[in-house]
Amino acid sequence: MSERYSRQILFKGIGRQGQDRLHASQVLIIGCGALGSTQAESLARAGVGKLRIVDRDFVEFSNLQRQTMFTERDAEERLPKAIAAANHIKQLNSAIQVQAVVADVNHSNIEMLMHEIDVVVDGTDNFSTRYLINDACVKHQVTWVYGAAVGSYGVTMTIRPHQTACLRCIFEEAPPAASAPTCDTAGIIMPIINVVAAFQVSEVLKVLTGNVANLHGSLMQFDVWQNEWRKINPGAPRSDCQTCGLGNFDLLASESNEVAAVLCGRDAVQISPPTPTSINFSALAARLERSGEVKFNEYLLRFRTGEFELTVFQDARSIIRGTNEITTARSLYAKYIGT
Ligand SMILES: [Zn+2]
Repeated sequence: MSERYSRQILFKGIGRQGQDRLHASQVLIIGCGALGSTQAESLARAGVGKLRIVDRDFVEFSNLQRQTMFTERDAEERLPKAIAAANHIKQLNSAIQVQAVVADVNHSNIEMLMHEIDVVVDGTDNFSTRYLINDACVKHQVTWVYGAAVGSYGVTMTIRPHQTACLRCIFEEAPPAASAPTCDTAGIIMPIINVVAAFQVSEVLKVLTGNVANLHGSLMQFDVWQNEWRKINPGAPRSDCQTCGLGNFDLLASESNEVAAVLCGRDAVQISPPTPTSINFSALAARLERSGEVKFNEYLLRFRTGEFELTVFQDARSIIRGTNEITTARSLYAKYIGT
């Protein structure tokens, strides 16, 4: 044990005591794509005692360019990412516990998943889940580390409920559906993943070892292609923030968050975004045309990729054909339409 962590124990910020604290800690990683798998590997190697990894997707060949935890074999077997990650972690550090959960994180399970968790790390690809994480973490006073990456751009911020601004203090509402590029429409290069995940993991190590004075305390943005980075001061928690100021945790209540429905007998699922919006079809079509076949008129846009067909209406409601699994449909919606 000492040999394995000797260089990390030598590091002044951690030491023997910090290493013991890491071993006694439990971290929840939500989403195990590029960011999540990098976080999982780093935290496992660092000796965090327990990792709970939740993901709804399976490994595909298009992941391998940046999701360094996974292998061609995982993609051939279409293994769920949480399971594939847990398998690899067992080989690189058998002394820690890894719990793989194959699930769509939503209002019905997020609080349960956070049970006995010290820090939550964001490895998701969509804002709906991030606002849900924000609600749950503020409610239970658990620190979470936001992170996102697309193209060559990335962003991260550490949220300590009631000590720092929360996600909703800064961005009151999630960007409307279909308004932003995603990795499946704009692409992504691996180095930005390493940058964002490096900052996220460093923040987790600081929190777990009690080095909160070293947290960066900002909204950090990077672009590894345009060679830009900046730190934005997020300010103090806002007293008028719906989540951390007013304690309104609507997203955790089932009624307000029912956005997906299986359309019986049609091999299709309907996804309705929580906040209706008005979609610019030509902009969305331009983003999608490199990823599949796309056609639109003034009423709807139709996008075909592999065995799936997504029909998107003006208000961002979509029907995803080719599946009757809500999890699969939500995953496709997040990847191609973006929430
Ligand atoms: Zn807030």
